Amino acid sequence: MPDRPLSPATVAVTAGRPPRAPDAPLNAPMVLTSTYHAPGEVGYGRYGNPTWSAFEEVLGGLEGGPAVAFASGTAAVDAVLRLVPAGGRIVASRHLYAGSTLLLDELDGGSAVEVQRLDVTDTDGLTAAARGADLVWLESPTNPLLDEAELPRIAAACREHATLLAVDNTFATPLLQRPLELGADIVVHSATKYLSGHSDVLLGAVVTREDPLAARFRQYRSSRGAVPGPVETWLALRGLRTLHLRIERAQTNARELAARLGAHAAVTRVRYPGYGGIVSIEVTGGAAAADAVVAALQVWVHATSLGGVESSLERRRRWAFESADVPESLLRLSVGVEDVEDLWDDLAQALGAASPPGSSDA
Ligand SMILES: *Cc1c(COP(=O)(O)O)cnc(C)c1O
Repeated sequence: MPDRPLSPATVAVTAGRPPRAPDAPLNAPMVLTSTYHAPGEVGYGRYGNPTWSAFEEVLGGLEGGPAVAFASGTAAVDAVLRLVPAGGRIVASRHLYAGSTLLLDELDGGSAVEVQRLDVTDTDGLTAAARGADLVWLESPTNPLLDEAELPRIAAACREHATLLAVDNTFATPLLQRPLELGADIVVHSATKYLSGHSDVLLGAVVTREDPLAARFRQYRSSRGAVPGPVETWLALRGLRTLHLRIERAQTNARELAARLGAHAAVTRVRYPGYGGIVSIEVTGGAAAADAVVAALQVWVHATSLGGVESSLERRRRWAFESADVPESLLRLSVGVEDVEDLWDDLAQALGAASPPGSSDA
């Protein structure tokens, strides 16, 4: 064994497996049970499941702290926001996954929690607002504008003011960004996306720096019943085994496509943070032209969500709840692991069909 921590690729493959013993299975079993023989420490299916534990061991190993699986990313987000007591204050990035914004609006309106919204790039504003706040809630990169937070500086300010810092790491994954190492207290995932990677499950997770906080999340999961299904958790665990390969390929594809899209006449803006598999583009001709691009694609899938092996895209403003700061013609691309030339050819023909050379721009 090397005298150093295993690299993420090795953790993804080797963690969360049963102990090595003759005829022991290599893989964590999918444990379908609602209850356990008494007396025991777990007792009932809402309090624990060995398949959850296996998934949590892998994700916790990748992020660097104890992980707690939840029924969905949204259930995980909700569990973190509910840490804040009535009368408390949350500082949040202005642009977030729409579901997180809805939860924050609900808290803001209903239970006397004050929510303060700032641009994720406004480091001075965020570090000042962290003083006296209970929680700073960030996404970096943000969805779908791909703005980035200066996490180390924000984390240092949160530490100084004893304010919890939570980062939704769904877009970056622990392969590309480990917020706990950068100073955050809590990491949240929609494991529905890259961690599972095959667009076939809904699952979420919270990862914390320390155990007392993780225990609070386990308690919350048990008492609220925000529990994942063992089948979903097992599928996500299976997906995690290839996370590094999928991310590597998606990123290579995304980099190449971002560069080519930047030089395309029908594309007015490309947002790409330089890593990861999400690229947001704006096209000439507004919403109608963007919709025409989507309709003309044959390899790319028109669907919401992201992080699957298949390349997908959508015009985010087709959703009434999407922020008005997101341009009407913005298409969010989730680049998959297909052959990059096939992806490019499909995009190029769709962009050409929507805005033929010589046509005038709306
Ligand atoms: C999808 C998503 C969520 C919500 O996760 P679900 O699994 O759909 O409940 C939260 N945050 C981000 C960044 C997401 O992309």
